[in-house]
Amino acid sequence: MKKCPKCGCQSFNVTAHVTQDWVVDEYGNFLRCEDDCVEVTHRPDDEDVWNCANCGYSASGKEFNIH
Ligand SMILES: [Zn+2]
Repeated sequence: MKKCPKCGCQSFNVTAHVTQDWVVDEYGNFLRCEDDCVEVTHRPDDEDVWNCANCGYSASGKEFNIH
């Protein structure tokens, strides 16, 4: 469970890593996306940078943990 240490907000902006299935041409160039979220390869964790959606406070995820 996480909470912004500055304002107490519990909404954050983070970057997740997902895989996508693409349709490509004979050169491998992107044509369209067949499935835009096949698999989440990496969920935001304590090593990632989390940004508070309210006050903009930015730090690694562990800074936001509630102890
Ligand atoms: Zn905040």
